[in-house]
Amino acid sequence: MKKTMIFGLMLVPGLLCYGQEQRQQPPATGQQTTTGVRPQRAPEDSTIKMTHFQTEIWDPEIPMVQPAAQIGDPPADAIILFNGKDINSEWEETARGGGVKPATWIIKDGAMVSVQGSGSLKSKRVFGDFQLHIEWRSPSVITGKSQGRGNSGVYLQELYELQVLDSWHNRTYRNGQAGAFYKQYPPLINASRQPGEWQVYDIVYTAPRFGKDSTTYFTPPRATVFHNGILIQNNVALRGPTTFVGIPEFLIKKHGPGSIMLQQHGNPVGYRNIWIREL
Ligand code: MG
Repeated sequence: MKKTMIFGLMLVPGLLCYGQEQRQQPPATGQQTTTGVRPQRAPEDSTIKMTHFQTEIWDPEIPMVQPAAQIGDPPADAIILFNGKDINSEWEETARGGGVKPATWIIKDGAMVSVQGSGSLKSKRVFGDFQLHIEWRSPSVITGKSQGRGNSGVYLQELYELQVLDSWHNRTYRNGQAGAFYKQYPPLINASRQPGEWQVYDIVYTAPRFGKDSTTYFTPPRATVFHNGILIQNNVALRGPTTFVGIPEFLIKKHGPGSIMLQQHGNPVGYRNIWIREL
Protein backbone atom coordinates (compact mmCIF):
# COMPACT_ATOMS: atom_id res chain seq x y z
CA MET A 1 0.00 0.00 0.00
CA LYS A 2 2.75 2.40 1.10
CA LYS A 3 4.88 1.50 -1.94
CA THR A 4 1.99 2.18 -4.29
CA MET A 5 1.41 5.64 -2.73
CA ILE A 6 5.10 6.59 -3.02
CA PHE A 7 5.19 5.40 -6.64
CA GLY A 8 2.07 7.42 -7.36
CA LEU A 9 3.52 10.59 -5.80
CA MET A 10 6.66 10.19 -7.90
CA LEU A 11 4.57 9.97 -11.07
CA VAL A 12 2.56 13.19 -10.52
CA PRO A 13 5.41 15.75 -11.03
CA GLY A 14 6.55 13.84 -14.08
CA LEU A 15 3.10 13.98 -15.60
CA LEU A 16 2.80 17.70 -14.81
CA CYS A 17 6.15 18.39 -16.50
CA TYR A 18 5.07 16.33 -19.52
CA GLY A 19 1.88 18.39 -19.79
CA GLN A 20 3.80 21.68 -19.62
CA GLU A 21 6.24 20.48 -22.22
CA GLN A 22 3.35 19.61 -24.54
CA ARG A 23 1.73 23.00 -24.05
CA GLN A 24 4.96 24.97 -24.49
CA GLN A 25 5.97 23.17 -27.69
CA PRO A 26 5.30 25.55 -30.64
CA PRO A 27 4.88 24.22 -34.17
CA ALA A 28 8.23 23.96 -35.95
CA THR A 29 9.16 26.57 -38.53
CA GLY A 30 7.85 25.58 -41.92
CA GLN A 31 5.38 23.13 -40.35
CA GLN A 32 1.84 23.10 -41.77
CA THR A 33 -0.67 24.40 -39.22
CA THR A 34 -4.42 24.90 -39.40
CA THR A 35 -3.83 28.51 -40.43
CA GLY A 36 -1.15 27.87 -43.02
CA VAL A 37 2.60 27.42 -42.92
CA ARG A 38 4.20 28.82 -39.81
CA PRO A 39 6.54 31.65 -40.94
CA GLN A 40 10.22 31.88 -40.06
CA ARG A 41 10.48 33.50 -36.67
CA ALA A 42 13.28 35.82 -35.65
CA PRO A 43 15.16 34.67 -32.55
CA GLU A 44 14.14 36.48 -29.41
CA ASP A 45 17.48 38.24 -29.15
CA SER A 46 17.25 39.39 -32.77
CA THR A 47 18.07 43.02 -33.46
CA ILE A 48 15.41 43.01 -36.23
CA LYS A 49 12.47 45.11 -35.11
CA MET A 50 9.26 45.33 -37.13
CA THR A 51 7.58 48.64 -37.81
CA HIS A 52 3.96 49.19 -38.77
CA PHE A 53 5.08 50.28 -42.26
CA GLN A 54 6.12 46.74 -43.09
CA THR A 55 2.52 45.52 -43.05
CA GLU A 56 0.90 48.45 -44.88
CA ILE A 57 0.09 48.04 -48.59
CA TRP A 58 -0.47 51.29 -50.49
CA ASP A 59 -0.47 50.45 -54.20
CA PRO A 60 -2.35 50.14 -56.38
CA GLU A 61 -4.82 52.57 -54.86
CA ILE A 62 -8.38 51.22 -54.70
CA PRO A 63 -10.61 53.08 -57.19
CA MET A 64 -13.48 55.13 -55.81
CA VAL A 65 -17.09 54.55 -56.81
CA GLN A 66 -19.96 56.97 -56.27
CA PRO A 67 -22.60 55.18 -54.17
CA ALA A 68 -26.28 55.85 -54.86
CA ALA A 69 -27.97 58.55 -52.80
CA GLN A 70 -30.36 55.87 -51.66
CA ILE A 71 -29.18 52.34 -50.86
CA GLY A 72 -30.75 49.96 -53.37
CA ASP A 73 -30.39 52.35 -56.28
CA PRO A 74 -27.49 51.68 -58.67
CA PRO A 75 -24.02 52.94 -57.80
CA ALA A 76 -22.10 54.77 -60.54
CA ASP A 77 -20.30 51.68 -61.85
CA ALA A 78 -23.39 49.47 -62.23
CA ILE A 79 -24.82 48.29 -65.54
CA ILE A 80 -28.51 49.20 -65.62
CA LEU A 81 -30.44 46.20 -66.95
CA PHE A 82 -33.86 47.79 -66.62
CA ASN A 83 -34.65 51.43 -66.03
CA GLY A 84 -38.45 51.22 -65.94
CA LYS A 85 -38.94 52.28 -69.57
CA ASP A 86 -37.31 50.05 -72.13
CA ILE A 87 -37.16 46.25 -72.18
CA ASN A 88 -35.70 45.52 -75.59
CA SER A 89 -32.38 47.33 -75.28
CA GLU A 90 -31.13 44.86 -72.67
CA TRP A 91 -33.50 41.87 -72.92
CA GLU A 92 -34.84 39.37 -75.41
CA GLU A 93 -37.34 36.60 -74.99
CA THR A 94 -36.94 32.87 -75.38
CA ALA A 95 -38.98 31.56 -78.28
CA ARG A 96 -40.85 28.27 -78.49
CA GLY A 97 -38.69 25.76 -80.32
CA GLY A 98 -35.48 27.53 -79.35
CA GLY A 99 -33.83 30.83 -80.16
CA VAL A 100 -34.92 34.26 -79.07
CA LYS A 101 -37.32 36.97 -80.21
CA PRO A 102 -38.18 40.54 -79.18
CA ALA A 103 -39.75 40.73 -75.72
CA THR A 104 -43.53 40.57 -75.40
CA TRP A 105 -43.58 41.25 -71.66
CA ILE A 106 -45.38 44.52 -70.95
CA ILE A 107 -44.29 47.60 -69.03
CA LYS A 108 -46.73 48.57 -66.30
CA ASP A 109 -46.11 51.13 -63.53
CA GLY A 110 -42.39 51.18 -64.33
CA ALA A 111 -42.08 47.40 -64.11
CA MET A 112 -41.72 44.74 -66.78
CA VAL A 113 -44.40 42.13 -66.26
CA SER A 114 -44.59 38.63 -67.71
CA VAL A 115 -47.59 37.86 -69.87
CA GLN A 116 -49.44 34.56 -70.37
CA GLY A 117 -48.02 32.76 -73.36
CA SER A 118 -44.78 34.76 -73.45
CA GLY A 119 -41.34 33.24 -72.98
CA SER A 120 -38.73 33.89 -70.33
CA LEU A 121 -36.60 37.03 -70.57
CA LYS A 122 -32.86 36.72 -71.13
CA SER A 123 -30.38 39.55 -70.74
CA LYS A 124 -28.54 40.22 -73.99
CA ARG A 125 -25.33 40.64 -72.02
CA VAL A 126 -23.66 37.67 -70.43
CA PHE A 127 -21.93 37.62 -67.07
CA GLY A 128 -19.44 35.66 -65.01
CA ASP A 129 -19.01 36.78 -61.39
CA PHE A 130 -21.33 39.58 -60.33
CA GLN A 131 -23.37 41.47 -57.77
CA LEU A 132 -27.01 41.69 -58.86
CA HIS A 133 -29.80 43.84 -57.43
CA ILE A 134 -33.30 43.01 -58.60
CA GLU A 135 -36.75 43.99 -57.34
CA TRP A 136 -39.83 41.87 -57.96
CA ARG A 137 -43.52 41.85 -57.14
CA SER A 138 -46.04 39.05 -57.16
CA PRO A 139 -49.67 39.90 -58.02
CA SER A 140 -51.67 41.61 -55.24
CA VAL A 141 -54.70 39.45 -55.99
CA ILE A 142 -53.99 35.94 -54.75
CA THR A 143 -54.79 33.21 -57.22
CA GLY A 144 -53.55 29.65 -57.04
CA LYS A 145 -51.56 28.06 -54.28
CA SER A 146 -48.19 26.46 -53.57
CA GLN A 147 -46.05 26.64 -56.74
CA GLY A 148 -48.94 28.22 -58.67
CA ARG A 149 -48.86 31.51 -56.74
CA GLY A 150 -46.64 34.28 -58.10
CA ASN A 151 -44.12 31.88 -59.59
CA SER A 152 -41.15 33.19 -61.54
CA GLY A 153 -37.42 32.92 -61.00
CA VAL A 154 -34.09 34.67 -61.41
CA TYR A 155 -31.71 32.36 -63.26
CA LEU A 156 -28.01 33.04 -62.79
CA GLN A 157 -26.07 32.27 -65.98
CA GLU A 158 -29.35 30.80 -67.36
CA LEU A 159 -28.78 27.66 -65.29
CA TYR A 160 -29.22 28.28 -61.58
CA GLU A 161 -32.70 29.36 -60.49
CA LEU A 162 -33.21 31.52 -57.44
CA GLN A 163 -36.92 30.95 -56.92
CA VAL A 164 -39.37 33.82 -57.07
CA LEU A 165 -42.69 32.89 -55.48
CA ASP A 166 -45.40 34.47 -53.39
CA SER A 167 -44.36 32.79 -50.15
CA TRP A 168 -46.54 34.95 -47.91
CA HIS A 169 -48.43 32.31 -45.92
CA ASN A 170 -48.27 29.96 -48.87
CA ARG A 171 -46.88 26.53 -47.98
CA THR A 172 -44.99 24.63 -50.59
CA TYR A 173 -41.93 22.39 -50.48
CA ARG A 174 -39.25 24.25 -48.51
CA ASN A 175 -36.61 23.92 -51.22
CA GLY A 176 -38.99 25.49 -53.74
CA GLN A 177 -40.22 28.57 -51.89
CA ALA A 178 -39.13 32.18 -52.46
CA GLY A 179 -35.37 32.51 -52.02
CA ALA A 180 -34.63 28.81 -52.55
CA PHE A 181 -32.04 27.72 -55.04
CA TYR A 182 -34.62 25.50 -56.61
CA LYS A 183 -34.58 22.00 -55.10
CA GLN A 184 -31.05 22.50 -53.75
CA TYR A 185 -31.01 25.03 -50.92
CA PRO A 186 -34.07 26.31 -49.03
CA PRO A 187 -33.75 29.88 -47.78
CA LEU A 188 -32.41 30.28 -44.24
CA ILE A 189 -35.57 32.18 -43.34
CA ASN A 190 -38.80 33.32 -45.01
CA ALA A 191 -38.34 37.08 -45.48
CA SER A 192 -41.38 37.50 -47.77
CA ARG A 193 -43.50 40.62 -47.92
CA GLN A 194 -47.23 40.54 -48.67
CA PRO A 195 -48.37 39.90 -52.25
CA GLY A 196 -48.42 43.10 -54.27
CA GLU A 197 -45.53 44.63 -52.31
CA TRP A 198 -42.12 45.16 -53.90
CA GLN A 199 -39.40 42.78 -52.73
CA VAL A 200 -35.65 42.81 -53.24
CA TYR A 201 -33.01 40.22 -53.96
CA ASP A 202 -29.36 41.20 -53.62
CA ILE A 203 -27.19 38.42 -54.99
CA VAL A 204 -23.43 37.90 -54.94
CA TYR A 205 -22.49 35.19 -57.41
CA THR A 206 -19.20 33.46 -58.21
CA ALA A 207 -19.32 31.46 -61.42
CA PRO A 208 -17.99 27.90 -61.49
CA ARG A 209 -14.53 27.10 -62.77
CA PHE A 210 -13.86 24.02 -64.87
CA GLY A 211 -10.74 21.94 -65.27
CA LYS A 212 -10.16 19.18 -67.82
CA ASP A 213 -13.34 17.34 -66.86
CA SER A 214 -16.24 19.14 -68.53
CA THR A 215 -18.87 17.34 -66.44
CA THR A 216 -17.50 18.21 -62.98
CA TYR A 217 -16.86 21.58 -61.40
CA PHE A 218 -13.26 22.41 -60.50
CA THR A 219 -14.84 24.93 -58.15
CA PRO A 220 -18.66 25.04 -57.97
CA PRO A 221 -20.83 28.10 -58.50
CA ARG A 222 -21.36 29.92 -55.21
CA ALA A 223 -23.98 32.43 -54.16
CA THR A 224 -24.95 34.63 -51.25
CA VAL A 225 -28.42 36.18 -51.27
CA PHE A 226 -30.22 38.81 -49.23
CA HIS A 227 -34.03 38.93 -49.43
CA ASN A 228 -35.39 42.32 -48.39
CA GLY A 229 -32.05 42.96 -46.68
CA ILE A 230 -32.04 39.66 -44.76
CA LEU A 231 -29.45 36.94 -45.41
CA ILE A 232 -31.18 33.87 -46.86
CA GLN A 233 -28.35 32.08 -48.71
CA ASN A 234 -24.90 32.11 -47.14
CA ASN A 235 -22.21 31.33 -49.71
CA VAL A 236 -23.85 28.10 -50.85
CA ALA A 237 -22.10 25.84 -53.36
CA LEU A 238 -24.57 24.87 -56.07
CA ARG A 239 -24.62 21.17 -56.92
CA GLY A 240 -25.36 21.64 -60.61
CA PRO A 241 -28.04 23.30 -62.76
CA THR A 242 -31.38 23.55 -60.93
CA THR A 243 -34.01 21.22 -62.31
CA PHE A 244 -37.68 20.30 -61.79
CA VAL A 245 -36.93 16.58 -62.06
CA GLY A 246 -33.51 15.01 -61.80
CA ILE A 247 -30.13 15.05 -60.11
CA PRO A 248 -28.23 18.35 -60.53
CA GLU A 249 -24.80 16.68 -60.50
CA PHE A 250 -25.74 14.68 -63.60
CA LEU A 251 -26.53 17.89 -65.53
CA ILE A 252 -23.19 19.65 -65.17
CA LYS A 253 -21.73 20.74 -68.49
CA LYS A 254 -18.80 23.06 -68.91
CA HIS A 255 -20.03 26.59 -69.56
CA GLY A 256 -18.80 30.15 -69.78
CA PRO A 257 -20.53 33.45 -68.99
CA GLY A 258 -24.33 33.41 -69.23
CA SER A 259 -27.39 35.64 -69.21
CA ILE A 260 -29.59 36.61 -66.33
CA MET A 261 -32.90 34.95 -67.13
CA LEU A 262 -36.32 35.83 -65.68
CA GLN A 263 -38.70 32.91 -65.73
CA GLN A 264 -42.14 33.04 -67.30
CA HIS A 265 -44.22 30.63 -65.25
CA GLY A 266 -47.74 31.69 -66.08
CA ASN A 267 -48.09 34.30 -63.32
CA PRO A 268 -47.87 38.07 -63.97
CA VAL A 269 -44.80 38.76 -61.83
CA GLY A 270 -43.19 42.20 -62.28
CA TYR A 271 -39.55 43.30 -62.12
CA ARG A 272 -37.96 46.73 -61.73
CA ASN A 273 -34.72 48.47 -60.72
CA ILE A 274 -32.39 45.76 -62.03
CA TRP A 275 -28.69 46.51 -61.95
CA ILE A 276 -25.54 44.49 -61.95
CA ARG A 277 -21.86 44.99 -61.15
CA GLU A 278 -19.32 42.68 -62.73
CA LEU A 279 -16.74 41.40 -60.27
MG1 MG B 1 -39.80 29.48 -60.59
